[in-house]
Amino acid sequence: MSFLRPNIAAMAGYVPGFQPPDGTSFIKLNSNENPYPPSPAVVRAILTELADDGASLRKYPSASSDRLRRIAGDLYGFDPSWIIMANGSDEVLNNLIRACAGEGEEIAYVHPSYSYYVTLAQVQGARVRTFGLTDDYRVADFPERYNGKIFFLTTPNAPFGFAFPTAYIEELAKRCSGLLVADEAYVDFADENALDLVRKHENVVVTRTLSKSYSLAGMRLGLAIGRPELIAALDKIRDHYNLDRLAQAACCAALSDQEYLRECVGKVRDIREWFSARLRELGYQVIPSSGNYVFAASPDRNGRRVYEGLYRRGILVRHFSDPLLSHGLRITIGTREEMAATVAALKEIG
Ligand SMILES: *Cc1c(COP(=O)(O)O)cnc(C)c1O
Repeated sequence: MSFLRPNIAAMAGYVPGFQPPDGTSFIKLNSNENPYPPSPAVVRAILTELADDGASLRKYPSASSDRLRRIAGDLYGFDPSWIIMANGSDEVLNNLIRACAGEGEEIAYVHPSYSYYVTLAQVQGARVRTFGLTDDYRVADFPERYNGKIFFLTTPNAPFGFAFPTAYIEELAKRCSGLLVADEAYVDFADENALDLVRKHENVVVTRTLSKSYSLAGMRLGLAIGRPELIAALDKIRDHYNLDRLAQAACCAALSDQEYLRECVGKVRDIREWFSARLRELGYQVIPSSGNYVFAASPDRNGRRVYEGLYRRGILVRHFSDPLLSHGLRITIGTREEMAATVAALKEIG
């Protein structure tokens, strides 16, 4: 079609993980969703929003999500002018590229990590530079001075699960003349985060999501924390009503129930350590994880074989055909029962 931009015509588009239809009975460990329901306060808040036969839905939601920015600001210790709310953190990743990287300009990311940055760059017509990982999980061949517009650093890394130490992220940020985006989608399951770097360095921005630790993948909620000048730029770009009323109500309630978050995250971390230990007993190589998933390789390093064995037993995990990843599997941490069933299935598969 001659009216399509050539980069759009040429690009493949992002392929999300397989989402079986609701009602099918897989043990679903392939999308790093949380096995527990969201805080009970979330459902109460949504039902309150729907009171009077949903009369409030007639009206547009808050365009600025300002109540959420205040709550998130209080939670993380920032003025609300440092916070932007997003329709999933994917939205804010997209708008960061739109704000900073023009057509033909360069962004970079680490491979393996979240490949959606590449899709977003292709839409924008930006170029993508890829950095690898060293054996000790540092960025390979990162220049003394990196002049690209954005460097995306997924930390904790997905799919491997390790987290970059904050001091190391700071060193990378100092070497970037553009923006360093710390994509902290899984950071609530980790021991450290990069928020201090946002305070110290004007070129560091942190993105977060409520999809994983807050069990709200279905509501599409994310946020970014950065300098007010950057946040103001992102505000110009986003859809003006980017968060609907139900999402805003859910987000307020979820962020306000930190005790529930701590409880869920604590359970997931405990099960993660239990499951990792069982995998090692089976001879699997397991990368110590700071997320709600583990990357593990069977003794024969044949990820496809184990994936298929699990699939036949009704357990869905993630296998990547990428040569750097095909030896292993990314397995989301589910409930204790789900992980026990997975261990039993792996024993059978051998
Ligand atoms: C899940 C995930 C996201 C997307 O989060 P949403 O808020 O669901 O859009 C972004 N980055 C990474 C690394 C993720 O794993």
